[in-house]
Amino acid sequence: MEDVGLYVHIPFCTSKCNYCDFVSFPYAMVKHQSTEYFQALKTEMELIRENFGALAVNTVYFGGGTPSLVSESFIDYVLSYIRRYFYVKEGIEISIEANPETVTLNKFKAYADMGINRVSLGVQTDSEDCLIEMSRHHSWNDVIYAVECAREAGFTNLGVDLIYGLPGQYLEQWENTLHKVLEQKPEHMSLYGLKLSQETAWGRLAQAGPLTFPDEDQQADMYLATQEIVRSAGLEQYEISNYAKPGFESRHNLIYWRGQHYLGIGVSAASYYNKYRWSNYRLLPQYIAGLKNRSWPREEMLTLSKREEMAETIIMGLRLIKEGVSISAFEERFGVSMHQIYEKEIVSLAEAGLIEEKDGHLLLTKQARLLANEVFREFI
Ligand code: SF4
Repeated sequence: MEDVGLYVHIPFCTSKCNYCDFVSFPYAMVKHQSTEYFQALKTEMELIRENFGALAVNTVYFGGGTPSLVSESFIDYVLSYIRRYFYVKEGIEISIEANPETVTLNKFKAYADMGINRVSLGVQTDSEDCLIEMSRHHSWNDVIYAVECAREAGFTNLGVDLIYGLPGQYLEQWENTLHKVLEQKPEHMSLYGLKLSQETAWGRLAQAGPLTFPDEDQQADMYLATQEIVRSAGLEQYEISNYAKPGFESRHNLIYWRGQHYLGIGVSAASYYNKYRWSNYRLLPQYIAGLKNRSWPREEMLTLSKREEMAETIIMGLRLIKEGVSISAFEERFGVSMHQIYEKEIVSLAEAGLIEEKDGHLLLTKQARLLANEVFREFI
């Protein structure tokens, strides 16, 4: 069985950001449950070990939520059990998401001491007004301080997450944000257009009228400007929304895009292993109570049909700008050629100039990057 990527969900945040639909809980309200939560993570790993044996892990990713909000001793505790229940290969990527206002030099040093070697900093924007409107708790000065501390602690792999399409934002503002962030010389950037969910405070406000957001065309202009600005700073676009200096691509996220196996530990975490896909309970008490009884905290479990796996392989692979989907690897995996299954779709998308074949790989064309969802729909 192939190696797995391990995702650990830390669902605690200072408060809920106005655009956020991740599973996260205000820490002040659930802090009393944190010890139980981390014990539940340990029990979940024990159950994985009992069911699947000692799996080899080739990436670990602490996401959230805000993993940097909790004491570093909790993170150390989880890592010590990961090393006990899994076979952790030498030199693997171990990432943690951090919010700028929650980190200090000592915290970064502690992360480095426990083997974490990649930090993903949730910056989102440099606009102080917008940060307040988003309900974020940091300022641009916090960002500068966090970057300085991370570098001083020895981190040489630093990612920055930004969002565009924010209320009232216009193209020149976004371009300035990019230039300002690039001065901090991150090795990796994740740049996502805002997608409003009706479940969020902004989603409800947008429906009611008082908030206005850049429209689709404006977001498209921002996306196109991003490609040029970030590339000219030496970061390559390797995925539709992700850019990295060569060799600094997120190894953990590549696992998702390449359709490889991953296990998610923690409330709401998703897993894909051995043709099964499942996700954990989304409610904290349910997750903790389940694991106290040593029962698997799965909310739903799906077995993917071969056809579904094939569609996923193409859709996720096409997100990778340069790598795309290997036509020979597809055939090796599924025992049938991609053209045999999707000939009609491939021909019509190629005629429309949206996909192309290069050196045995199926790729999105440059002009299709803005229309990726329409392309993906053809394979479902
Ligand atoms: S910090 Fe991140 S996970 Fe937490 S509420 Fe804000 S956007 Fe959501």
